[in-house]
Amino acid sequence: MVWSNGSWVILLMLIIGVVTLGFLLAQLKSMESGELGGFSGTSWIGKLNGGNAAGGENGAENKNGSNAGYHGDGEKRETADHRETADHRGVLYGTLQSGLPLICVDAGHGYDDPGAMHANLNGLDEKDITLDIALRVKDILVEKGHPVLMTRDSDEIPLWMEQDARGLYVMDPYDRCDITNEAEADLFVSIHCNALPSSPSARGMQLYYTDGHTPDNPEYAEQMADSLEAVFGVRPQVIANPENDSYVVNRLVDAPSVLVETGFITNAADARLMLSESWRQEMAEALAEGIIAFLEAKND
Ligand SMILES: [Zn+2]
Repeated sequence: MVWSNGSWVILLMLIIGVVTLGFLLAQLKSMESGELGGFSGTSWIGKLNGGNAAGGENGAENKNGSNAGYHGDGEKRETADHRETADHRGVLYGTLQSGLPLICVDAGHGYDDPGAMHANLNGLDEKDITLDIALRVKDILVEKGHPVLMTRDSDEIPLWMEQDARGLYVMDPYDRCDITNEAEADLFVSIHCNALPSSPSARGMQLYYTDGHTPDNPEYAEQMADSLEAVFGVRPQVIANPENDSYVVNRLVDAPSVLVETGFITNAADARLMLSESWRQEMAEALAEGIIAFLEAKND
């Protein structure tokens, strides 16, 4: 067959077409998996089908109304009805030893409560980022010999958990207080990502605690801020809420307690950091360092 000039042009266009299609397919595939390398937990994607609503501690409810939130004005719950199942709640890592403080690491949200969502980055869910960072904090602390209690260590619904009135599996902040207080943990940290859909330029770290909660709570918060500043070169905002603090975990956990907002999931730059395994590891190291430094300072 003799190829005319016209045939060559058509062949060339066909080749360009096939290469372009291949490239697009490869991009699509990497959006599904490649960018999220290093994260081995549950899926980060596929949560956006219902819309782009964002929620979180400060945001609106999520699309399915499942955001338990960390705010509330309730009292400590009567825990007697939980006692029978208390052994199954929370997960202990390392070995409890007298004289060794028990540190409770709370991965914010989870199960049917995704926490804040950022619509433009692969359905990034707050609950996945908080869990990943929390597990890293636990690894570092246990490696250094500290026993750690986790309020949750996966996104698998635990056996003790019951559906709420909406038919959803949610660990509310009062559950988290119960778990921590029943185990008599000595220190508590709750890990979160902030969300402010109305102001996408808002970014950065914040540390919350309740004023007057325990005498050493301010010192704990400042120590965490020192540690985060040492790692990231920026000092997080430290916010002491009044005694009627709507952050339930800060108000009702018996131990010194801080809630860390690691960044704003609604900010493109912060959300990109959250996708980075090295950033999540640095965040975990900073938090673990802050905890250890605070405990050491107390022992001196
Ligand atoms: Zn949160």
